[in-house]
Amino acid sequence: MKKILILGGTTEARQLAGKLAAADHSVTLSLAGRTENPVAQGVPIRSGGFGGAEGLAAYLRETRIDLLIDATHPYAAQISANASEAAGKTGVRILALRRPGWAPVEGDRWTLVDSVADALNALGPSPRRAFLALGRQEVAAFEAAPQHHYLIRSVDPVEPKLAVPDATYLLARGPFRGADERALLESHRVDVVISKNSGGEATYGKIAAARALGIEVVMIRRPALPDVTSAETVESLAAMIDHFLEPAAERGV
Ligand code: NAP
Repeated sequence: MKKILILGGTTEARQLAGKLAAADHSVTLSLAGRTENPVAQGVPIRSGGFGGAEGLAAYLRETRIDLLIDATHPYAAQISANASEAAGKTGVRILALRRPGWAPVEGDRWTLVDSVADALNALGPSPRRAFLALGRQEVAAFEAAPQHHYLIRSVDPVEPKLAVPDATYLLARGPFRGADERALLESHRVDVVISKNSGGEATYGKIAAARALGIEVVMIRRPALPDVTSAETVESLAAMIDHFLEPAAERGV
Protein backbone atom coordinates (compact mmCIF):
# COMPACT_ATOMS: atom_id res chain seq x y z
CA MET A 1 0.00 0.00 0.00
CA LYS A 2 1.45 3.37 -1.04
CA LYS A 3 1.39 6.33 1.30
CA ILE A 4 0.07 9.52 -0.22
CA LEU A 5 -0.02 12.98 1.36
CA ILE A 6 -2.47 15.40 -0.23
CA LEU A 7 -2.10 19.09 0.53
CA GLY A 8 -5.69 20.24 0.42
CA GLY A 9 -8.11 22.95 1.37
CA THR A 10 -10.12 22.63 -1.86
CA THR A 11 -13.16 20.62 -2.98
CA GLU A 12 -11.02 18.78 -5.52
CA ALA A 13 -8.51 17.71 -2.85
CA ARG A 14 -11.34 16.16 -0.84
CA GLN A 15 -12.73 14.42 -3.94
CA LEU A 16 -9.28 13.13 -4.89
CA ALA A 17 -8.64 11.87 -1.36
CA GLY A 18 -11.89 9.88 -1.41
CA LYS A 19 -11.10 8.42 -4.81
CA LEU A 20 -7.58 7.34 -3.85
CA ALA A 21 -8.69 5.92 -0.49
CA ALA A 22 -11.36 3.89 -2.32
CA ALA A 23 -8.58 2.54 -4.54
CA ASP A 24 -6.79 1.19 -1.42
CA HIS A 25 -4.10 3.82 -1.07
CA SER A 26 -3.14 5.04 2.37
CA VAL A 27 -4.15 8.71 2.15
CA THR A 28 -3.64 11.58 4.56
CA LEU A 29 -5.14 14.96 3.77
CA SER A 30 -3.41 18.03 5.11
CA LEU A 31 -5.35 21.22 5.89
CA ALA A 32 -3.91 24.57 6.93
CA GLY A 33 -6.39 24.75 9.82
CA ARG A 34 -7.83 28.14 8.83
CA THR A 35 -11.52 27.11 8.67
CA GLU A 36 -13.17 26.56 12.03
CA ASN A 37 -15.45 23.69 10.96
CA PRO A 38 -14.11 22.24 7.72
CA VAL A 39 -16.50 19.95 5.84
CA ALA A 40 -15.96 16.24 6.58
CA GLN A 41 -13.16 15.03 4.36
CA GLY A 42 -13.71 11.25 4.61
CA VAL A 43 -10.03 10.34 5.10
CA PRO A 44 -7.53 10.89 7.94
CA ILE A 45 -6.68 14.56 8.39
CA ARG A 46 -3.68 16.41 9.75
CA SER A 47 -4.10 20.09 10.37
CA GLY A 48 -1.82 23.16 10.64
CA GLY A 49 1.41 24.30 9.03
CA PHE A 50 4.50 22.09 8.81
CA GLY A 51 7.02 24.83 9.50
CA GLY A 52 8.09 25.80 5.97
CA ALA A 53 9.68 23.59 3.32
CA GLU A 54 12.10 22.15 5.90
CA GLY A 55 9.23 21.12 8.17
CA LEU A 56 7.34 19.55 5.30
CA ALA A 57 10.48 17.68 4.19
CA ALA A 58 10.91 16.32 7.74
CA TYR A 59 7.26 15.22 7.78
CA LEU A 60 7.66 13.43 4.42
CA ARG A 61 10.70 11.55 5.73
CA GLU A 62 9.23 10.68 9.13
CA THR A 63 5.95 9.41 7.77
CA ARG A 64 7.61 7.69 4.76
CA ILE A 65 5.37 9.30 2.17
CA ASP A 66 5.67 7.78 -1.34
CA LEU A 67 3.83 10.51 -3.22
CA LEU A 68 3.06 14.15 -2.43
CA ILE A 69 0.10 15.78 -4.14
CA ASP A 70 -0.31 19.55 -4.16
CA ALA A 71 -4.07 20.05 -4.49
CA THR A 72 -4.15 23.45 -2.78
CA HIS A 73 -5.98 26.52 -4.03
CA PRO A 74 -4.29 28.32 -6.98
CA TYR A 75 -3.68 31.39 -4.75
CA ALA A 76 -1.99 29.37 -1.98
CA ALA A 77 1.41 30.06 -3.54
CA GLN A 78 3.53 29.63 -0.40
CA ILE A 79 2.51 26.06 0.38
CA SER A 80 2.90 25.14 -3.32
CA ALA A 81 6.45 26.53 -3.32
CA ASN A 82 7.19 24.68 -0.08
CA ALA A 83 5.81 21.44 -1.51
CA SER A 84 7.99 21.64 -4.59
CA GLU A 85 11.08 22.45 -2.48
CA ALA A 86 10.37 19.67 0.06
CA ALA A 87 9.88 17.12 -2.73
CA GLY A 88 13.21 18.21 -4.22
CA LYS A 89 15.01 17.90 -0.86
CA THR A 90 13.62 14.43 -0.07
CA GLY A 91 13.31 12.86 -3.54
CA VAL A 92 9.61 12.21 -2.86
CA ARG A 93 7.63 12.34 -6.09
CA ILE A 94 5.21 15.22 -6.45
CA LEU A 95 2.18 15.88 -8.63
CA ALA A 96 -0.13 18.87 -8.64
CA LEU A 97 -3.80 19.41 -9.30
CA ARG A 98 -4.01 22.76 -11.07
CA ARG A 99 -7.54 23.89 -11.78
CA PRO A 100 -7.57 26.06 -14.93
CA GLY A 101 -8.45 29.73 -14.49
CA TRP A 102 -11.50 31.44 -16.00
CA ALA A 103 -11.09 33.34 -19.25
CA PRO A 104 -13.11 36.48 -20.00
CA VAL A 105 -15.92 36.03 -22.51
CA GLU A 106 -18.04 38.44 -24.55
CA GLY A 107 -19.78 40.89 -22.23
CA ASP A 108 -17.35 40.55 -19.30
CA ARG A 109 -16.00 43.84 -17.89
CA TRP A 110 -12.81 42.69 -16.17
CA THR A 111 -10.13 44.99 -14.78
CA LEU A 112 -7.01 42.86 -14.23
CA VAL A 113 -4.77 43.60 -11.24
CA ASP A 114 -1.87 41.80 -9.56
CA SER A 115 -2.72 41.99 -5.86
CA VAL A 116 -5.35 42.83 -3.26
CA ALA A 117 -3.66 46.23 -2.80
CA ASP A 118 -4.01 46.94 -6.53
CA ALA A 119 -7.66 45.83 -6.40
CA LEU A 120 -8.27 48.38 -3.67
CA ASN A 121 -6.69 51.13 -5.79
CA ALA A 122 -8.79 50.06 -8.78
CA LEU A 123 -11.95 51.06 -6.88
CA GLY A 124 -10.93 54.71 -7.21
CA PRO A 125 -11.77 57.66 -4.94
CA SER A 126 -15.57 57.90 -5.46
CA PRO A 127 -17.82 55.76 -3.25
CA ARG A 128 -18.76 52.41 -4.78
CA ARG A 129 -20.74 49.36 -3.70
CA ALA A 130 -18.20 46.54 -3.78
CA PHE A 131 -18.72 42.81 -3.27
CA LEU A 132 -15.51 41.41 -1.77
CA ALA A 133 -15.36 37.76 -2.82
CA LEU A 134 -12.08 37.25 -0.97
CA GLY A 135 -10.75 35.35 2.04
CA ARG A 136 -11.45 36.82 5.45
CA GLN A 137 -7.71 37.47 5.96
CA GLU A 138 -7.62 39.61 2.82
CA VAL A 139 -10.55 41.96 3.37
CA ALA A 140 -8.83 43.97 6.13
CA ALA A 141 -6.84 45.83 3.45
CA PHE A 142 -10.08 47.59 2.37
CA GLU A 143 -10.14 49.61 5.60
CA ALA A 144 -7.77 51.92 3.74
CA ALA A 145 -10.71 53.01 1.52
CA PRO A 146 -13.57 53.62 3.99
CA GLN A 147 -15.61 55.67 1.47
CA HIS A 148 -16.96 52.51 -0.21
CA HIS A 149 -19.80 50.25 0.87
CA TYR A 150 -18.61 46.65 1.24
CA LEU A 151 -20.54 43.41 0.97
CA ILE A 152 -18.33 40.75 2.53
CA ARG A 153 -19.06 37.04 2.36
CA SER A 154 -16.99 34.47 4.25
CA VAL A 155 -17.23 30.93 5.63
CA ASP A 156 -16.25 32.03 9.16
CA PRO A 157 -17.03 35.44 10.68
CA VAL A 158 -14.66 38.31 9.89
CA GLU A 159 -13.21 39.25 13.28
CA PRO A 160 -12.51 42.00 14.03
CA LYS A 161 -14.99 43.72 11.73
CA LEU A 162 -13.57 46.28 9.31
CA ALA A 163 -13.17 49.79 10.67
CA VAL A 164 -15.34 51.26 7.92
CA PRO A 165 -18.76 52.94 8.33
CA ASP A 166 -20.66 50.88 5.80
CA ALA A 167 -20.16 47.10 5.52
CA THR A 168 -22.55 44.15 5.34
CA TYR A 169 -21.39 40.68 6.35
CA LEU A 170 -22.75 37.37 5.07
CA LEU A 171 -21.79 33.88 6.20
CA ALA A 172 -22.00 31.22 3.49
CA ARG A 173 -20.07 28.31 2.05
CA GLY A 174 -20.12 27.56 -1.70
CA PRO A 175 -21.01 26.31 -4.21
CA PHE A 176 -22.99 29.38 -5.24
CA ARG A 177 -25.57 29.19 -8.04
CA GLY A 178 -25.54 31.86 -10.75
CA ALA A 179 -29.19 32.83 -10.20
CA ASP A 180 -28.59 33.29 -6.45
CA GLU A 181 -25.49 35.36 -7.11
CA ARG A 182 -27.41 37.59 -9.47
CA ALA A 183 -30.13 38.10 -6.87
CA LEU A 184 -27.45 38.92 -4.28
CA LEU A 185 -25.73 41.51 -6.50
CA GLU A 186 -29.06 43.11 -7.36
CA SER A 187 -30.47 43.21 -3.83
CA HIS A 188 -27.29 44.86 -2.48
CA ARG A 189 -27.01 47.16 -5.54
CA VAL A 190 -23.41 46.02 -6.05
CA ASP A 191 -21.54 47.95 -8.77
CA VAL A 192 -18.17 46.18 -8.62
CA VAL A 193 -17.04 42.65 -7.72
CA ILE A 194 -13.52 41.99 -6.43
CA SER A 195 -12.51 38.41 -7.19
CA LYS A 196 -9.65 36.00 -7.57
CA ASN A 197 -9.47 33.93 -10.73
CA SER A 198 -10.16 30.73 -8.80
CA GLY A 199 -11.46 28.70 -11.74
CA GLY A 200 -13.98 25.88 -11.40
CA GLU A 201 -17.75 25.90 -11.28
CA ALA A 202 -18.41 26.43 -7.58
CA THR A 203 -17.64 30.15 -7.47
CA TYR A 204 -18.18 31.12 -11.13
CA GLY A 205 -21.76 32.21 -10.46
CA LYS A 206 -20.76 35.71 -9.35
CA ILE A 207 -18.71 36.22 -12.53
CA ALA A 208 -21.61 35.15 -14.75
CA ALA A 209 -24.00 37.28 -12.71
CA ALA A 210 -21.74 40.34 -13.01
CA ARG A 211 -21.60 39.84 -16.77
CA ALA A 212 -25.40 39.54 -17.01
CA LEU A 213 -25.82 42.76 -15.01
CA GLY A 214 -23.02 44.67 -16.80
CA ILE A 215 -21.06 45.02 -13.55
CA GLU A 216 -17.28 45.49 -13.47
CA VAL A 217 -15.15 42.69 -12.00
CA VAL A 218 -11.75 43.61 -10.58
CA MET A 219 -9.94 40.31 -11.14
CA ILE A 220 -6.78 39.60 -9.19
CA ARG A 221 -4.36 37.67 -11.41
CA ARG A 222 -3.06 34.29 -10.29
CA PRO A 223 0.32 34.11 -8.56
CA ALA A 224 3.22 32.24 -10.17
CA LEU A 225 3.41 28.59 -9.08
CA PRO A 226 6.31 26.14 -9.25
CA ASP A 227 6.69 24.00 -12.36
CA VAL A 228 5.43 20.58 -11.24
CA THR A 229 3.88 17.75 -13.28
CA SER A 230 0.20 18.48 -13.04
CA ALA A 231 -3.32 17.61 -14.17
CA GLU A 232 -6.39 19.85 -14.41
CA THR A 233 -9.06 17.50 -13.07
CA VAL A 234 -9.44 14.95 -10.29
CA GLU A 235 -10.02 12.19 -12.86
CA SER A 236 -6.94 12.96 -14.93
CA LEU A 237 -4.76 13.29 -11.83
CA ALA A 238 -6.06 9.96 -10.45
CA ALA A 239 -5.16 8.28 -13.75
CA MET A 240 -1.70 9.87 -13.61
CA ILE A 241 -1.23 8.60 -10.06
CA ASP A 242 -2.07 5.02 -11.08
CA HIS A 243 0.67 5.26 -13.67
CA PHE A 244 3.14 6.85 -11.21
CA LEU A 245 2.62 4.16 -8.58
CA GLU A 246 2.54 1.13 -10.87
CA PRO A 247 5.57 -1.12 -10.40
CA ALA A 248 8.12 -0.45 -13.16
CA ALA A 249 7.73 -4.00 -14.59
CA GLU A 250 4.02 -3.42 -15.24
CA ARG A 251 4.82 -0.20 -17.08
CA GLY A 252 7.11 -2.23 -19.34
CA VAL A 253 10.23 -0.45 -18.03
P1 NAP B 1 -0.35 29.88 1.68
O1 NAP B 1 -0.25 31.34 1.82
O2 NAP B 1 0.20 29.25 0.44
O3 NAP B 1 0.35 29.13 2.90
C1 NAP B 1 0.74 29.78 4.09
C2 NAP B 1 1.16 28.73 5.08
O4 NAP B 1 0.02 27.99 5.54
C3 NAP B 1 2.08 27.67 4.49
O5 NAP B 1 3.40 28.13 4.44
C4 NAP B 1 1.85 26.52 5.43
O6 NAP B 1 2.48 26.76 6.69
C5 NAP B 1 0.38 26.62 5.72
N1 NAP B 1 -0.45 25.81 4.81
C6 NAP B 1 -1.12 26.23 3.69
N2 NAP B 1 -1.82 25.22 3.16
C7 NAP B 1 -1.58 24.14 3.94
C8 NAP B 1 -2.03 22.79 3.91
N3 NAP B 1 -2.89 22.36 2.96
N4 NAP B 1 -1.60 21.94 4.88
C9 NAP B 1 -0.75 22.39 5.86
N5 NAP B 1 -0.31 23.66 5.95
C10 NAP B 1 -0.72 24.51 5.00
O7 NAP B 1 -1.87 29.38 1.87
P2 NAP B 1 -3.23 30.25 2.00
O8 NAP B 1 -3.43 31.01 0.74
O9 NAP B 1 -3.22 30.93 3.33
O10 NAP B 1 -4.29 29.05 2.03
C11 NAP B 1 -4.44 28.25 3.18
C12 NAP B 1 -5.29 27.04 2.82
O11 NAP B 1 -6.57 27.46 2.36
C13 NAP B 1 -4.70 26.16 1.73
O12 NAP B 1 -4.85 24.82 2.14
C14 NAP B 1 -5.54 26.45 0.51
O13 NAP B 1 -5.68 25.32 -0.34
C15 NAP B 1 -6.85 26.88 1.11
N6 NAP B 1 -7.57 27.90 0.33
C16 NAP B 1 -6.93 29.06 -0.02
C17 NAP B 1 -7.60 30.01 -0.77
C18 NAP B 1 -6.92 31.27 -1.20
O14 NAP B 1 -7.57 32.08 -1.87
N7 NAP B 1 -5.64 31.50 -0.86
C19 NAP B 1 -8.93 29.79 -1.16
C20 NAP B 1 -9.55 28.59 -0.79
C21 NAP B 1 -8.86 27.66 -0.04
P3 NAP B 1 3.96 26.17 7.02
O15 NAP B 1 4.91 26.98 6.20
O16 NAP B 1 4.09 26.34 8.49
O17 NAP B 1 3.94 24.72 6.60
